[in-house]
Amino acid sequence: MRSISVLGATGSIGASTLDLIRREPDKWRVVALTANGNAAGLARLAIEFRAEIAVVADENSLPDLREALAGSGIVASGGAAALVEAATRPADITVAAIVGCAGLAPTMAAIEQGRSVALANKEALVAAGEVMTAAVARSGATLLPTDSEHNAIFQCLAGNSYDHVRSITLTASGGPFLDWTMDQLHAATPAQAIKHPNWDMGAKISVDSATMFNKGLELIEAHHLFPVGLDRLKIIVHPQSVIHSMVEYRDGSTLAQLGPSDMRVPIASCLAWPQRMDTPLAPLDLAAIGELTFRAPDEERFPATRLCRLAAEAGGAAPAVLNAANEVAVAAFLAGKLPFTRIAVVVEQVLARYAPPPPVSLADVMAVDAAARAEARSVLELATK
Ligand code: NDP
Repeated sequence: MRSISVLGATGSIGASTLDLIRREPDKWRVVALTANGNAAGLARLAIEFRAEIAVVADENSLPDLREALAGSGIVASGGAAALVEAATRPADITVAAIVGCAGLAPTMAAIEQGRSVALANKEALVAAGEVMTAAVARSGATLLPTDSEHNAIFQCLAGNSYDHVRSITLTASGGPFLDWTMDQLHAATPAQAIKHPNWDMGAKISVDSATMFNKGLELIEAHHLFPVGLDRLKIIVHPQSVIHSMVEYRDGSTLAQLGPSDMRVPIASCLAWPQRMDTPLAPLDLAAIGELTFRAPDEERFPATRLCRLAAEAGGAAPAVLNAANEVAVAAFLAGKLPFTRIAVVVEQVLARYAPPPPVSLADVMAVDAAARAEARSVLELATK
């Protein structure tokens, strides 16, 4: 029996993870489950999976969580420190699935324990960069990439040296607005942006997928996970989302990982690694899919990948600033306060206005994140005046 904690248990990745655990109840013991404010949903999961502890990050939700868990024997806890404490509890694997930089401190706490961490929370790695990879090296933790693209690359790289890699190509679905004109993009609504053609995901990553910031953040993530150099990292649009990424070797061989567009596949790969486990998914039917197509990204309509590449090249604090500005801009878009096409403009303006020195500790990264958010809010205020 293996033990598992799921940070962000009430989200889309959390649900996919727990769906796999539910199918193998004799193999798993659940330690910590966390949420932000969804106390009722978290309590339901904690009771179903007999978790040791359930934590809401938002302390205002703690009374509801306590009430829902009364008499269950499950510890109910709340607040940022409780979240970090839950992440440090011994577990064979921790799934880091909180959305945004809010997941950074608990993810780092899990990494510091030196165990396995399945990383879905890309914003944490984008913001912390070398601070996180240094913590992984120091603690001896195993970082298992859960994002479908990075999981694909991880699988295609298995047993091969970076010296033999000619290039790594991240595939991008292109999102729901792939063929939209600039005028259409300008008028895009949150409801349209979160309706992804291939994947069922949380609201923030769905908007990121529509702007292509998701692919840009993944480029930065790949830069840290697979250090082959930015010049060897490429992006290609592949609307069917069947190939999840590819590694080209110097002999001309390209290895690709294919699979259904369902996060249970890469999550299962992480949970079972280095073994394999069953998933309930129908086998990939390539004859039914018929065609796999590819095209170059259009950075005129979708400037996000260009901005992310520039931030990765600048290094230091730039990716944390970019990530924070994007989180603030996406929240404003989802709240109906910012046009879709202004998301990238806000990010570019914040990057131009705020260039702090490189962070060297978790506290530094969190300070950069907080200051960049403040900067983004002031850019937003100017934009809406
Ligand atoms: P969701 O929005 O569906 O879920 C987010 C989870 O994080 C919820 O449990 C939520 O709790 C919790 N949460 C939100 N804000 C906070 C906070 N401030 N403090 C603590 N917990 C918080 O997101 P997804 O599952 O879609 O995405 C999670 C991460 O995985 C993201 O980084 C995303 O980029 C990445 N990812 C997701 C994929 C997907 O298919 N969904 C694919 C690849 C990567 P509550 O329910 O209480 O709000």
